[in-house]
Amino acid sequence: MSKVIHTRRFADGKETPQEMHARIAWAGKRCTKCGGKPHIVIRVIAPLVELQRLCPEVLIAIAAGNPDPAHRGEVPVIPTIYGPMLRVSEVVACQLCAPDAEKAAAKGPSWCIVEIDRGPDPKGRVVVGWDGGETCPRK
Ligand SMILES: [Zn+2]
Repeated sequence: MSKVIHTRRFADGKETPQEMHARIAWAGKRCTKCGGKPHIVIRVIAPLVELQRLCPEVLIAIAAGNPDPAHRGEVPVIPTIYGPMLRVSEVVACQLCAPDAEKAAAKGPSWCIVEIDRGPDPKGRVVVGWDGGETCPRK
């Protein structure tokens, strides 16, 4: 028999998995629009190749304004399997502002990548073990 435990709270009931994710992964950020409790984080990243082609003068300004003294004059890129990317924006939205934020993110240029971090699924269950007696729950 598989052992399935529904976990609603961590740390002796002090916070839910969603609250823990918001505290650790989103560093306690609040809704960009209203300052409410974070529900999703939307990040837009753009390929460096496209930005070099479309607006090289903006990249020069970004490189000159890099706040990290060790990397002054460099564009802060994110290495991905699609090539180096530049984070264009990051928006935190509460549950009420999330639909508007998602609609706004969908209106960006088609060559940008939109990543929506919704955190752990509140309806999800945590499977902690399998004794081999039944079909593996992962298959
Ligand atoms: Zn909000």
